[in-house]
Amino acid sequence: LEDEDDDSDEAAISPATMSKVEDFLLPFQLSLEKLREVSSKLRKDLIRGLGKHTHRRAPVKMLPTFVRDTPDGTEKGDFLALDLGGTNFRVLHVCVEENLQKVLKNDSQVCAIPQEMMQGPGEELFDHIAACLAEFLESLELKDKILPLGFTFSFPCEQKDIDKSILIRWTKGFACSGVEGQDVVLMLREAIKRRGDYDIGSIAMVNDTVGTMMNCGYQDQSCEIGLIIGTGTNACYMEEMRNVKRVEGDEGRMCINTEWGGFGDDGSLRDIQTEFDVEVDRTSINPGVHTFEKMISGMYLGEVARLVLIEMAKKNLVFGGETSEALLTPDSFETRFISEIEEEDTGLERAQLILTEDLGLPAGPDDCEIVRLVCDILSTRSAQLCGAALATIANRIRNNRGLSHLTTTVGVDGTVYTKHPHYSDRLEETVKTLAPKCDIKFLVTDDGSGKGAAMVTAVAQRLAIHSKL
Ligand code: BGC
Ligand code: MG
Repeated sequence: LEDEDDDSDEAAISPATMSKVEDFLLPFQLSLEKLREVSSKLRKDLIRGLGKHTHRRAPVKMLPTFVRDTPDGTEKGDFLALDLGGTNFRVLHVCVEENLQKVLKNDSQVCAIPQEMMQGPGEELFDHIAACLAEFLESLELKDKILPLGFTFSFPCEQKDIDKSILIRWTKGFACSGVEGQDVVLMLREAIKRRGDYDIGSIAMVNDTVGTMMNCGYQDQSCEIGLIIGTGTNACYMEEMRNVKRVEGDEGRMCINTEWGGFGDDGSLRDIQTEFDVEVDRTSINPGVHTFEKMISGMYLGEVARLVLIEMAKKNLVFGGETSEALLTPDSFETRFISEIEEEDTGLERAQLILTEDLGLPAGPDDCEIVRLVCDILSTRSAQLCGAALATIANRIRNNRGLSHLTTTVGVDGTVYTKHPHYSDRLEETVKTLAPKCDIKFLVTDDGSGKGAAMVTAVAQRLAIHSKL
């Protein structure tokens, strides 16, 4: 009788189809046992990365950042900041006032980086950066001042000091020639010198995770982990100096940039990689590296979804067995679609539009439901993998300090985390399960990596003054 008001807009997936769909997606669903395994593999890799001799071949690089303290609120001054490595390049002017405990002024400007430049000669990229900074200083009438500069450079770098930072490798679609193996601080200084119309003071190099942690640390002094889940993924945390074997000294702490995106590059995650993950890696501009990142972050999530949908169409599980030219085009299924489709109230309607309008697919209500399930399963896997990794770090900090219980704060940034309707809940749930003795607060920063870079410069100055007293 209920069939009487059967609405043709409603999905009515047959149980047989549904079970085929579920079987197909099974390899993406990680049991708690698997997540525990991932966490314990990472635990061992953190130790390998920190070790003096094991470091060289470790997939998780555990890079010293030379950031030895988080803000204490007494920082002050006038700073410039550059932020390169996300979706946009930005220049900022940040004034930090003591006692007010806040960033007073914050002017910023976004400069686009043309696609060709991301893969052209490195010198041109740095000339472009120097030109953007010149224009910005001009507009604020700051060209005659010599200000210290925090440079958020969100790629793996071997830092020799706070102002000496050698690019290990590009990630996230960047591939400029002549920069890997070079000191990026020097390259920036040289580009500014080539212009000759302005100068800058001391430079502090910062990974975006570190900037995010430092920015949060200004509001919440128990913040000692920085987490990014955006175009790429990564985390940093405060490690005990005695465990940082590659840097002289046993006293105090140092922030370590884990570069966990490289987790699995030695094949340790092969058992959870699907054929689609392997394909995304194979067709990327950096095959064989950043395995973990490619299963998680925004640059790749949509692409995994696209490959899954193509294969499901070929198996006649969606779109009446049809694909479309758009669906067969790399990167056509954008990661933001996943967030939009999973939105509680509007998601299915949005799915309908994306599938038919953007992708030219013959999609009905059933297809929308199935695509939503695909999105749900892929974003859940991402959140759980990140959660497992974060739990590893929290457990490590707790053990380092011999605490029965750790209370700490994580500074977070990145569009996957901030724009997805359920991502943060799923991540937190996993962390709670895998790090039950850690009580973790998540603090989302606005513009962490920019302001955070200024903060690193400020803290470095404070420490330098103190060590002279
Ligand atoms: C880079 C990291 C960065 C992360 C998030 C990764 O690809 O290797 O240095 O922190 O992306 O932006
Ligand atoms: Mg040491």
